Amino acid sequence: MPITVKTVGRPTTESSYVRAALHGMALTFKHLLQPKWTMQYPEEKSSATWTISSRYRGTHRMAVDETGKAKCVACGLCPQVCPANCIKLIPGEDEQGNRYPLVYEIDEFRCVFCGYCQEVCPEEAIHLGVHYENAEYGREGFVYDLKRLMAQPHEMSTLWDPADPKGE
Ligand code: SF4
Ligand code: SF4
Repeated sequence: MPITVKTVGRPTTESSYVRAALHGMALTFKHLLQPKWTMQYPEEKSSATWTISSRYRGTHRMAVDETGKAKCVACGLCPQVCPANCIKLIPGEDEQGNRYPLVYEIDEFRCVFCGYCQEVCPEEAIHLGVHYENAEYGREGFVYDLKRLMAQPHEMSTLWDPADPKGE
């Protein structure tokens, strides 16, 4: 839709503002009778007509296996692909030669929530989450270590599916 600019000139003669005030009040009353599009956040987080998409990309989660260990095998792909350079990984190796993350941290403050880490992970270990309430009082609170990533209880984001582009 093209953008139009309406230029309102200053009145050259003395005029009453009653008409403009009545016009404004009429507009207010008109909106009172229309359906509500707002929600009383944080008490309401979804409505009958709207809920957050399962593809919402928010706070990360690390998936765990049946023994409760992180699924990450410290392959190094996610820090490699991350455009914000906000994943810190120090790999380790056990006696059987299995790799695991000695240190795994994500700085949610620097993250741009692109989802590349989730897409590239061969173990489906790191996921973005359907979660946005992660405010902190200091920057250091946004650095999520492995334990914290594993403890996140929110839903994991689903990836974009070309067969279902609108996520329906
Ligand atoms: S979502 Fe993107 S920016 Fe954020 S940690 Fe993953 S790859 Fe990096
Ligand atoms: S891509 Fe997956 S397995 Fe590889 S380091 Fe990242 S989280 Fe771990």
